[in-house]
Amino acid sequence: MDCQKIIDRVYAEVKAGENLGQVAAYIPELSKIDPDRFGICLTSIDGRQYRAGDAEEPFSIQSIAKVLSLSLAFACIGEPIWKRVDVEPSGTAFNSLLQLESENGIPRNPLINAGAIVVCDILCGYFREPKKELINFIRRAANQPDIDYAADIAASEKSTGYRNFALINYLKSFGNIHNDIDQVIDLYFNLCSIKMNCVELSHTFLFLANNGVQLESGETLLDSSRTKRINAIMQTCGFYDEAGEFAYRVGLPGKSGVGGGITAILPNEYAIAVWSPRLNKKGNSYRGMKFLERFTTETESSIF
Ligand code: GLN
Repeated sequence: MDCQKIIDRVYAEVKAGENLGQVAAYIPELSKIDPDRFGICLTSIDGRQYRAGDAEEPFSIQSIAKVLSLSLAFACIGEPIWKRVDVEPSGTAFNSLLQLESENGIPRNPLINAGAIVVCDILCGYFREPKKELINFIRRAANQPDIDYAADIAASEKSTGYRNFALINYLKSFGNIHNDIDQVIDLYFNLCSIKMNCVELSHTFLFLANNGVQLESGETLLDSSRTKRINAIMQTCGFYDEAGEFAYRVGLPGKSGVGGGITAILPNEYAIAVWSPRLNKKGNSYRGMKFLERFTTETESSIF
């Protein structure tokens, strides 16, 4: 199978087709992005990379980063994490407050905003310098020391982040935030602001396709049993109320972000990152979904 050829062909087909949806405008900084950017990179566990389009253009990975903060928190505290956050698909929007009331402040899963905020609280309780430890973990996964938070995007999101402030206050009212609210929400906004390009992003997620082991350093970032669990959570919860649709159309565990990125992995094979800023109504990249659907169909790569 000539992977580069298939990527080039599917990329060209999807690019020639419609580009529907809107760029996320509720974070002012994200609304400035050219909606027609489109990049792909696949990194295989033998270290090969295949790219197309704007693969080297950095963008804000937004909620994709929630998988990384979750991986770090899970590596640090293990099973007790599930006392604070559940592992069930939510079937609701990423920023929904709805289920917290009936579920006593325990978020449905760690990949919706409420759950990711609780994970940030766990990191704030565990580390003296959580912001530094988190970015160090991500740099080790990426094998790239200059990955960083984007202060302008974090500040921009903070300026209009009413829902996330509502979520953290609501969580606190149930006793599920243990640290200073300002510190926790600051970590959350910074987490979402991280910038990477598709090459870096696919490389960063490769450990989840490689039983938790970082390719170049050989460091075990997460043991294999926990890696399996993170992948299961991506499969069931990575696309909010479109998780079923993504599983049906693409057939891989993955995670999306409102910056227009999607990352997906095929265990023991590869990690792939796609970026196209226009989002469908559920907040997932329109072209990203299309590309991955066609790519996994043509390469017959799926966990099913
Ligand atoms: N930072 C965004 C928010 O909190 C992340 C949402 C997303 O990417 N789905 O709203």
